[in-house]
Amino acid sequence: MMQLKNYIDGAFAAPSNGRYLDNYEPATGKVYSLIPDSDATDVARAVAAAKRAFPEWSGLTAAERSKHLMRIANRIEERLEELAAAESRDNGKPYKLACTVDIPRARDNFAFYATAILHDASEAHDMGAQGFNYTLRRPIGVAACISPWNLPLYLFSWKIAPALAAGNTVVAKPSEVTPYTAYLLSEIVHEVGLPAGVLNIVHGTGPGVGEPLVIHPDVPLISFTGGTATGARINTLAAPSFKKLSLELGGKNPNVIFADCDFEAMLRSTLLSSFSNQGQICLCGSRILVERPIYDRFVAEFSQRVAALRVGLPQDPDTQIGAVVSASHRDKIMSYIELAQQEGGRIECGGHRVTLDSAPDGYYIAPTVITGLTMDCRTNQEEIFGPVVTVMAFDTESEALELANATRYGLAATVWTSDLKRAHRVAHEIDAGIVWINSWLVRDLRTPFGGVKQSGIGREGGFEALRFFTEPKNIFVKL
Ligand code: NDP
Repeated sequence: MMQLKNYIDGAFAAPSNGRYLDNYEPATGKVYSLIPDSDATDVARAVAAAKRAFPEWSGLTAAERSKHLMRIANRIEERLEELAAAESRDNGKPYKLACTVDIPRARDNFAFYATAILHDASEAHDMGAQGFNYTLRRPIGVAACISPWNLPLYLFSWKIAPALAAGNTVVAKPSEVTPYTAYLLSEIVHEVGLPAGVLNIVHGTGPGVGEPLVIHPDVPLISFTGGTATGARINTLAAPSFKKLSLELGGKNPNVIFADCDFEAMLRSTLLSSFSNQGQICLCGSRILVERPIYDRFVAEFSQRVAALRVGLPQDPDTQIGAVVSASHRDKIMSYIELAQQEGGRIECGGHRVTLDSAPDGYYIAPTVITGLTMDCRTNQEEIFGPVVTVMAFDTESEALELANATRYGLAATVWTSDLKRAHRVAHEIDAGIVWINSWLVRDLRTPFGGVKQSGIGREGGFEALRFFTEPKNIFVKL
């Protein structure tokens, strides 16, 4: 059976304790590889290697670092199909999605920061005859990058690329549930000759690897994407040593749909925003709010189209809904579908597991639409992170806003209307870091990305990420 390795100090390494974890293929429910169950010893080795590599890496010119990152981007492109197949196998997502979204975006993350760093500049503040100030933005040291399982290489590279571009060295931990493409990334950085210790990848669990990394005294900054509870834990662990933190956390995103929208465009987009990647994208809309005049029509037509979505093997080109990521996640999603019914919800379509003849033990769930719930119930307040959405009606713009903002989360939202003034008005008032008007998931890597309330702290993306991964220092010169 395939056995993955850590990548520390430019070399592949077995975990020092010799322990491995089973890695499951969601499509079949079978174990197909073993991953290192690393611990604090491996983390300490990786941090020490990154610390040793820091002076030389941070001393390179931006142009030299840019060349290294472009080589990684190009190699990802050359191995795109292999990486997409690995991502699909590891995560259960349709191969087509990995091929067109996940892996191209991982490539773009490296290419974007390889070029962004060439255009980065810091400020000067003129004080006339007295003198002037200029700002240095220096890399900080060893960055910890911890990422989740839903968009594995996409989010892993979203952190690693700006951290390296800014001149930091990195110790990265992928999710233990989806380690495969992170392992392939270590092969790629090895192939392209990234200097030893600049990027170290340590596999294992949150408590086994994540926590020792977060509390390590030689790790001054942490970029984390994952659940809100884990973010809170990391925040607590990091607080006593005042580490710099970027936390991209959970969401319970509203889609606000007004009666004057382009109904067909809205319907097509809402199918995607609800069920892409089996609803396991932090930006998926899970609470659909529909203005009353079109509510019945929406529920009928939406449910009909959702019921027609094809659940199937991830590698099948016709599959629209693949497997969810793990047996425990499947059980969590199913428990929320049951809870929704106890809370008075009506299942309009889906609501059950799907058993494929060719893979009877795979983790498949029919895409599910639920109506009849109030906003304060647990189903509408807690992140399910699966192919499950609720639909509620509203009568006025202010009621729509009240419902949209009635959770502890504030990551993303969509607004559907033909009234441009209203579109802006509502977008301004929704508690969210990102609002899409008449669209969803149109991403520009230059824009700030992140959430408000319990969806996170800080922003990544564009120059925001380069700012996070550097420390500004002001210097005054007397004239
Ligand atoms: P988790 O919070 O469970 O895990 C995220 C990462 O943190 C994993 O690598 C995990 O390791 C690690 N981890 C777990 N416990 C600890 C710990 N105590 N200390 C340090 N690291 C730890 O999230 P999921 O992987 O389940 O991902 C889903 C969540 O991610 C959802 O809530 C989703 O909304 C959120 N998300 C947010 C995004 C955003 O940009 N705001 C984007 C994508 C997802 P392991 O897997 O090995 O346990």
